[in-house]
Amino acid sequence: MAAAPHNLREHVELQSFNTLALPARARYFVRAESVADVAASIAWSRAQALPLLVLGGGSNVVLRGDWPGLVLQMAVHGRHVELVGDHALLTVGAGENWHELVQWSLREHLYGLENLTLIPGTAGAAPVQNIGAYGVELHRVLECVRGFVVGDNANGELVELGVAQCELGYRDSIFKRALRDRFVIVEVVLRLARTFAPVVDYPALAALLDDGTVDAERIERTVRELRQSKLPDPVVLPNAGSFFKNPVIDARHFAELRARHPDIPSFAAPGGIKVPAAWLVERSGWKGRRVGDVGVHDRQSLVLANYAGRAATAGVADRLLELAAAIQADVSRLFAVALEIEPAVYGDRTAAANVER
Ligand code: FAD
Ligand code: NAP
Repeated sequence: MAAAPHNLREHVELQSFNTLALPARARYFVRAESVADVAASIAWSRAQALPLLVLGGGSNVVLRGDWPGLVLQMAVHGRHVELVGDHALLTVGAGENWHELVQWSLREHLYGLENLTLIPGTAGAAPVQNIGAYGVELHRVLECVRGFVVGDNANGELVELGVAQCELGYRDSIFKRALRDRFVIVEVVLRLARTFAPVVDYPALAALLDDGTVDAERIERTVRELRQSKLPDPVVLPNAGSFFKNPVIDARHFAELRARHPDIPSFAAPGGIKVPAAWLVERSGWKGRRVGDVGVHDRQSLVLANYAGRAATAGVADRLLELAAAIQADVSRLFAVALEIEPAVYGDRTAAANVER
């Protein structure tokens, strides 16, 4: 019988562990500070037939209800650099704070992360979402991840998945599909450049950098300032960043929409044409609208927020998801586009599915 993890806690409030500040309780909770803690938590939850939920910074989740199993808060730290020719292989613990990692990499003269500054959360969650911003996705620098399989196929051995096996897509990966809640990442290996090569294709960024020298620090600072000017800080107004993914539609559908809406923005994307979800939400009349204690931000229509903050009462997650459903229904009716929710939703129903697998 697997022993209980040494720092196991019970009935832990999760409001401060998710950036939407949704109230929810974990039946059991472990802050995993080492790979051994992670392995012990997986073995124990399996032996107890308890569903396991891994949380990093909680910046891309909607906690819809109490978690009846074990919540593992990822806190495995560590950074190791190996120089390989003109590159460096940077191995980082999954619990490392992503933004601090970006800042540190620049101080070490390692390049490739500068466009991804100020994204909340942990390094271990970055491959789950294939985080992306300002023209760069993690895909560009990810070498591999290491972690443990969860569920019936678990054998307690550390497994390495190369970047191709992670099946990274647009804000997507195998960890959101076949391996959702079935693989715990404990280490991420990044291939960073030792010589800086700017990526400034993104128009909003390029417009601010068209004069003078562009170095990595300037890109990082510019992206950071752009983000701070546009996005609400979750500490001030609890949110989970973009609530919807940008949909990719086919050329025929896009032509129909453009005939009716000549100003519709669009970008070429693998598999079709990407239309900014923010535009669809705004044109559906939702920008800045509040429904009780939840609402759509008035400057950034992809951001749904918990306006009651830490004073939120029970059911706020359901009200948030009802708001999302109302927006999805309007966008579907007006544009025949299905908006997909970006954050992972967790509650009793997902917990049951997690254990049954
Ligand atoms: P969590 O929210 O804790 O977890 C997210 C999912 O990953 C869950 O399903 C969880 O179980 C799983 N997970 C977490 N850690 C692990 C692990 N170690 N092993 C296996 N599974 C794990 N995203 C972008 O892509 N680009 C952006 O520009 C961006 N901007 C944002 C701005 C704001 C203000 C906010 C609030 C969010 C933003 N996001 C953005 C979304 C979010 O920050 C990222 O998805 C981030 O990578 C989530 O990290 P996290 O540690 O908070 O993950
Ligand atoms: P923005 O610059 O106002 O642009 C709106 C949308 O247009 C973005 O979603 C972006 O898609 C798309 N876009 C713009 N230029 C593009 C180009 N040259 N090629 C392809 N797509 C292009 O966006 P914003 O809301 O201020 O966000 C800025 C960046 O930060 C974006 O990359 C966004 O994804 C990222 N961000 C993500 C989150 C999150 O939670 N996921 C939250 C905040 C910001 P992309 O989204 O595909 O880049």
